[in-house]
Amino acid sequence: MSTDTDAELLAMLEADMTLEAAQPILALAAGYFADTRRGEGPVSTWHSAQVIADRLVSAMPRLPRPLPDVARRLSQLLLDDVNRLAHPMYTGHQVSAPLPAAVWTDALISALNQSQGVREMSPSFTPLEHQVIAWMTDLVGWDEQAGGTMTSGGTEATFAALLAARSRAVPNVWKHGLGAKPPVIVCGEFAHYAVSRAAGEMGLGTSRVIIIPSRDHHMDLGALRQQLEALRASGTRVMAVVASAGCTGTGSFDDLNAIANLCDEFADDHGPLWLHVDAAHGGAALLSPSHQHRMRGLVRARSLTWDPHKSLLLPLSAGMVLVRSQDDLTRAFTQEEPSLIGPGASNAQLWDLGPRSFHTSRRADVLKLWVAIERYGTDNLARLYDRLCRMTQLLHGLVKAHPDFVALHEPMSNILCFAWKPEGVASDDLDTLTEALRERYNRSGRGFLSVITLNGRRVLRVTIMNARTDETHLARLMDGLAAEAAQILHTH
Ligand SMILES: *Cc1c(COP(=O)(O)O)cnc(C)c1O
Repeated sequence: MSTDTDAELLAMLEADMTLEAAQPILALAAGYFADTRRGEGPVSTWHSAQVIADRLVSAMPRLPRPLPDVARRLSQLLLDDVNRLAHPMYTGHQVSAPLPAAVWTDALISALNQSQGVREMSPSFTPLEHQVIAWMTDLVGWDEQAGGTMTSGGTEATFAALLAARSRAVPNVWKHGLGAKPPVIVCGEFAHYAVSRAAGEMGLGTSRVIIIPSRDHHMDLGALRQQLEALRASGTRVMAVVASAGCTGTGSFDDLNAIANLCDEFADDHGPLWLHVDAAHGGAALLSPSHQHRMRGLVRARSLTWDPHKSLLLPLSAGMVLVRSQDDLTRAFTQEEPSLIGPGASNAQLWDLGPRSFHTSRRADVLKLWVAIERYGTDNLARLYDRLCRMTQLLHGLVKAHPDFVALHEPMSNILCFAWKPEGVASDDLDTLTEALRERYNRSGRGFLSVITLNGRRVLRVTIMNARTDETHLARLMDGLAAEAAQILHTH
């Protein structure tokens, strides 16, 4: 390439670095916020993946386009078919209508491109991440031994925490593997699949995950005791007991204190059993005076998963793994015993976040979490969580009052499962009909909800992750479902 064309190219990059150049892209985001505000228009797309894929087939562009043209093409090709999480009728999955201040910060994080693995590569956001993690561990009630790291989400956080538990149960695991008599993980039947996935990924094997049945959607404590007794009798080491704080299916919270009591009672020669709490979804309850009682006993956990991109309404991705003793996390990822984290450790090594996670290069997602906390304050973040939970409670009332729908539990957070039970329909047909109802409702563009299996049945599930969703939208949700349900019964 000649210097002339280099100069042109470099000028193009320089021109793109201005606020004016950013305008067409940022305007798409602001326009999206504005368009969804009134709660009109479709919530999602009815096009199949293939239809969208066909539209995107083209030769890979060799030549440039002006940024405004790219923004226009992006909008025309793609934006009509996104799931509109900012639309107040979106009640589908556990993904937020994100806090706007955090959204704008994402562009800054990319612009600065600090890498969180090594202090040298992120001189100001490394201490920031330590500070924000310290805020979070303070909320848990842990002391200055505690620590953690931001993660890509709850799946990674849970894996990291379980790796830490593995290093404790099998101290030489890094070098010698799990050995002939590997330990087990004990978790509730509604634990997120991140737990069994971690067991598979780390070579423990999913058959080493012992499932405790539920009672009223909480881990059954009697069954847990029986299982721990049986494991002790057979000489099987328990690597970790995993409790859920805001479980994915129903949003319910296990009794953390009671589970911690059992972890104490069944202590082995390493001390109390390792209690991991998966609060990926429910962590925000810690901020809320009216919900924090659900987290009672959390301080006794040894590790914690908490996703700010769930109920703290951050944009993807922002997860966290927190540990009561930060050495635990370092040990999980170090080939040698972490002798560096002692008097001999250099200053840089003490700050580096890389040794306590999977990552080398890692985005400074902590910045958007910090901006959200600075901008809204924890009182308001708690109020937002309370609001999401209150709306779910109101929906629970509407479902209970409806002749064709049955609420399946009291909501403990912002998730509600309910069943469609139309009169005169054989219960064998209900799974299929429920799937059809969800499909029709979502494709209609009126709203968006999900379906899960609960006690062997396919049931409807609503998760409210949007501050815009209010009573009128809940009424529209029930009306929309009833209308689609009538259509289905008409042709059934
Ligand atoms: C969402 C969720 C996870 C997984 O988190 P990701 O951020 O999607 O990786 C794990 N556990 C619970 C309870 C969750 O709700």
